[in-house]
Amino acid sequence: MLGSRKPRGALALGAAAGALLVCASGLSAAADDRDRPPGSPDRSPVATGYGGAVSTVDPDATAAGMRMLRRGGTAADAAVAAAAALGVTEPYSAGFGGGGYLLYYSAEDGRVHTLDARETAPAAMGEDAFTEDGEPIPFREAVTSGLSVGAPGAPAAWERAVDTWGRKSLRQVMRPAIELAEDGFTVDATFRDQTAANAGRFADFPATAELFLPGGAPPEPGTVFRNPDLAETYRAFARDGAQVLDGPLGRDVAAAAADPPTAPGTGREVRPGLLTAADVAGYAPVRRDPAHVEFQGLDVYGMAPSSSGGTTVGEALAIVDRSAPGDGDGAGTLHAALEASKLAFADRNAYIGDPAFTDVPVRALLSPEYAERRACLIDPASVLPAPVAPGDPSGGDGNGCPAPVAQPAAPDTEGRSTTHLVTADRWGNVASFTLSIEQTGGSGITVPGRGFLLNNQLTDFDFAASGPGAGEANLPGPGKRPRSSMSPTIVLDDGAPAMALGSPGGATIITTVLHVIVDTAALGTPLPDAVAAPRTSQRNAPETDAEPGFFGTPAEKELTARGHAFSATPEIGAVAALEYLEDGRIRAVAEPERRGGGHAEVLRPGG
Ligand code: GLU
Repeated sequence: MLGSRKPRGALALGAAAGALLVCASGLSAAADDRDRPPGSPDRSPVATGYGGAVSTVDPDATAAGMRMLRRGGTAADAAVAAAAALGVTEPYSAGFGGGGYLLYYSAEDGRVHTLDARETAPAAMGEDAFTEDGEPIPFREAVTSGLSVGAPGAPAAWERAVDTWGRKSLRQVMRPAIELAEDGFTVDATFRDQTAANAGRFADFPATAELFLPGGAPPEPGTVFRNPDLAETYRAFARDGAQVLDGPLGRDVAAAAADPPTAPGTGREVRPGLLTAADVAGYAPVRRDPAHVEFQGLDVYGMAPSSSGGTTVGEALAIVDRSAPGDGDGAGTLHAALEASKLAFADRNAYIGDPAFTDVPVRALLSPEYAERRACLIDPASVLPAPVAPGDPSGGDGNGCPAPVAQPAAPDTEGRSTTHLVTADRWGNVASFTLSIEQTGGSGITVPGRGFLLNNQLTDFDFAASGPGAGEANLPGPGKRPRSSMSPTIVLDDGAPAMALGSPGGATIITTVLHVIVDTAALGTPLPDAVAAPRTSQRNAPETDAEPGFFGTPAEKELTARGHAFSATPEIGAVAALEYLEDGRIRAVAEPERRGGGHAEVLRPGG
């Protein structure tokens, strides 16, 4: 348990400081009070016990992962089973037509491994693919288009994860999701609302309308939603692996993106895509070294580029470690975290792109020396005027403390969708897996007869550079991966897993993960409280986003006095996490409220 670790380093402030936000919002109930009553069919945000754990946004997906654990599967088997189930029950956030990033702690070698399953641009995609007459095309046109569809990374990653770290066959791992697609799941209010919010564009694509608007309207809560086409797709994948995309299925994916099948008479202009069957069949996930920083004496591992998650969370943590007051001052620590996030986002926007195309200074961005140089810009009593300029991780600006420079803001158009899950098994392996099809509902294009939506992940490219050094690293390119914010994270303490976490939420993923780590590791807040607490999100903008529950807290007052300005936003992130308690138990944690609440389970509850 990070929240009750013995003080180590300047920031181990104890639970009292961490409770600053938590008590203000009335969320001070003892964490284990929220454990799931035995036999309760309801969602439960916290489960504590032994032998393995799963936390996801959805009870059916958690159950799929638990089934693997119960039958001797590893954390990788459980993660893929849960991911495939989410493709059924959360088809607007993730699935077979999308991608994601997996972090995996292998107890066998004591190392954190990664799989980059980011969707890739077609081979025919050039730098100006999202411009017309030299101007970026309207973002909303890119959202519902074939142009924004990247070659899906999920199938190859699921297969690779099971092959590399699993004990079960792909057939066994896919079984729960196949049953779920075939037998159906009970529609809840979130599913209905997400369908309703997309109904206009879904109606323009006959295959999407047929699947998600049965009878012409969103399915009602309480009804059973079946997806036999997806069951068939999953069955073929379970049999053949990702190789199945090198055939009719892959050709169907490419055709749906290249020439999106629209309803006759639709007024929507749907831009065709550039994806080919060869792009789809040729997809390969990439194993990368994780991004790593030390924070509070812990080792924090995140996803290296093509995601900006690991470097941005990591850089911000390294800055917080050097700039927070360390004297029990919770608001001072939050101030440091907001300012660190501002600085780290400036660097993210300037430097992070697909490392196969651009030289990303990962090591320099995460170095203690650079953290010192960024931390020295932070004044404990006032705020940096935002947006701040990126620093120079190469050290070209000298080793002093260069004056902060304001610069034009970078556009933030990332969706707020996606989903995260964590799993752990009896051998001590841990998975932290974020999955996405980008916007809620992805491109809106369902592959006819195949039961899944295509991603619109290529909207995460910068459509054009917004100035010298601004956005160039993330322009489109052939076979390139657009920069992500996904931040699956695993924290080790003396080489052993201490915590795993992640979140959906586009660029707010980064700040969500950052704040939960700061809250738990630096301020001693129990993980369930840190997950539930009202969130803020500073992404190098003059105003910091804050959830409604943050307003009126002592923290808000103290930070406003230092010069922070907050603007209300309904919801930030949705965490799935787990931690190891000092007595050896695992505590799995899901959201209690956001997005309808998630569901956590352990193999053997109690202790
Ligand atoms: N496309 C985003 C990313 O890769 C995620 C979208 C979301 O979280 O909604 O970072």
